[in-house]
Amino acid sequence: MDKRKRILTGDRPTGKLHLGHYVGSLQNRAALQKDYETFIIIADVQALTTNFDRPEKLKQDVINVAIDNMAAGVDPEISTFFIQSLIPEIAELTTFYSMFVTVNSLRHNPTIKTEIQQYGYKDIMYGFLGYPVSQAADITFCKADLVPVGEDQLPHIELSRKIVRRFNELYKPVLVEPEAMISRVSRLVGLDGNSKMGKSLNNGIYLSDDGETVKQKIRGAVTDPNRIKLTDKGNPDICTVFKYHQAFNEGEVQNVAEGCRNAGIGCSACKANLTNKLNAMLEPVREKRAYYEERPDKVQEILMTGTAKVRGVAKEVMREVREAMSIDYFG
Ligand code: ATP
Ligand code: MG
Repeated sequence: MDKRKRILTGDRPTGKLHLGHYVGSLQNRAALQKDYETFIIIADVQALTTNFDRPEKLKQDVINVAIDNMAAGVDPEISTFFIQSLIPEIAELTTFYSMFVTVNSLRHNPTIKTEIQQYGYKDIMYGFLGYPVSQAADITFCKADLVPVGEDQLPHIELSRKIVRRFNELYKPVLVEPEAMISRVSRLVGLDGNSKMGKSLNNGIYLSDDGETVKQKIRGAVTDPNRIKLTDKGNPDICTVFKYHQAFNEGEVQNVAEGCRNAGIGCSACKANLTNKLNAMLEPVREKRAYYEERPDKVQEILMTGTAKVRGVAKEVMREVREAMSIDYFG
């Protein structure tokens, strides 16, 4: 048996992964996978909470998300990938948890509130309101210790911890309280200046974008609107491009900020500098992506064997859960 602590983390298959994922989560996954037993969930059921009307998209997006993770350095020889909907124990656990989570605690969840606004929902689905409960099941069905995530997920991890404490005191202490892990850049802004780059918000630079696309996207990124001429002094604090320098060009942040404030560097040169840094960083990612794209059978195999392994863990923990709840009827 693997004695290491366990990581559970993952993504919704709602599109291709972007730079927000890279700094917010993927880099942590790649760095931690040797020290932690790492499970990567491809949360297709959670994707349905906002995409129930186009389930046919999932098949391709499951593959995209798996390949993006591998391209970013999550090694399928070391980490285990699995598909959420193929672990029915997660759905079972979600049902049990939903008996003691209040509707009000979900309505007041700050991330749910933000997402309702971002998606422009007038009314919300039961499954959408309850996805943090399902996420608690994703994290706890395998007794994960650590969950590397972006900032938007913190309220959900907090709920998971509460659920575990409640379950353990109501029944028997079998579940493990997970801890969140946030990276240096826990919320990357979108190209549109939106507070979060998001797959479903159409404001991202994707790991799969080619060099020219990255260049065009950065060229169009929002900067300080008051800086029109080269001689105008700028304010980096309100510039999206500067936020990307902070995330991806740490070594030059001081210079970039000064050059902007005293009008020493123009926006075009500043953007070109960033584009070069991003493309240099993404080049090895693109190479790895191409490797897996050429080997679809290998990707399928990784997902199938990973899911089978995780299913074994899920069955074992579910047996403990049922026993703790005294609903193990036939011994
Ligand atoms: P969607 O818009 O479809 O919800 P998403 O971009 O929010 O997609 P998810 O699959 O929901 O991506 O999230 C996967 C992980 O990536 C989570 O841990 C999330 O916190 C993190 N993450 C997503 N966007 C960002 C971002 N802009 N900055 C930092 N981390 C992020
Ligand atoms: Mg999201």
